[in-house]
Amino acid sequence: MRIYFIQARQLLAALVLTIMLLLGIINLCLFSKPLSEDVFYAGITMPSVLIDPGHGGLDGGASSPGGLIEAPLNLDISLRLRDLFAFIGIQSVLTREDDRSLGYREELSIRENKRADLNARLACSQSYPEQPFLSIHLNKYVQPEYKGAQVFYSPNHAESLTLASCLQEALRKGLDPSNDRRAKLTPENVYLMQHIAAPAVTIECGFLSNPEETAMLRTPEYRKKIAASICCGYTEYLKERGL
Ligand SMILES: [Zn+2]
Repeated sequence: MRIYFIQARQLLAALVLTIMLLLGIINLCLFSKPLSEDVFYAGITMPSVLIDPGHGGLDGGASSPGGLIEAPLNLDISLRLRDLFAFIGIQSVLTREDDRSLGYREELSIRENKRADLNARLACSQSYPEQPFLSIHLNKYVQPEYKGAQVFYSPNHAESLTLASCLQEALRKGLDPSNDRRAKLTPENVYLMQHIAAPAVTIECGFLSNPEETAMLRTPEYRKKIAASICCGYTEYLKERGL
């Protein structure tokens, strides 16, 4: 009688285990996130900072009168910045690592693809809500005499101004001591900066409408100097925060 009782208990335990296993499999199949979302930031568990190379894909951004395009230069500066950060032990994530835009779909219009791209960048920031977001761009203006790097900060986080000021000062020191531009609040029509909640800045690294700066931007040495200046500015910001 006792043997039957033990066997029944073992049978019941095996049944419960099987049901739990089945429920686990069903849960995995039905409710887990698509694999693509999990592997998007593969290899990076918790970055300290996000680098956002502006534009990409069909959207080349601004261009110089001679045809120098903004998007690949933004990416080049961003990749250099990532390497410099890695060298000093700061782990970063790039919103794009090649010349493609984000979330591109052939059936969408140019305008819809642009919005999808910006929303993907926003989603990247939302995945790491505490991490500062550095968006890398180049400027353009009608009058060619305007020049000089300038940092714009998002209105949504108290730290954004501090971050922008540290970066502005480092860019002045590193690139052009006569640059008297100051960190400025982002204009209201800049979608990404208006929607991001983390400390966020747009770094306009120079003017593609200015012949002098365009000539320098063509050289890897100058792009290296830009990346190094941003890296220095970011470490100053960390110091100010006591990190
Ligand atoms: Zn741009």
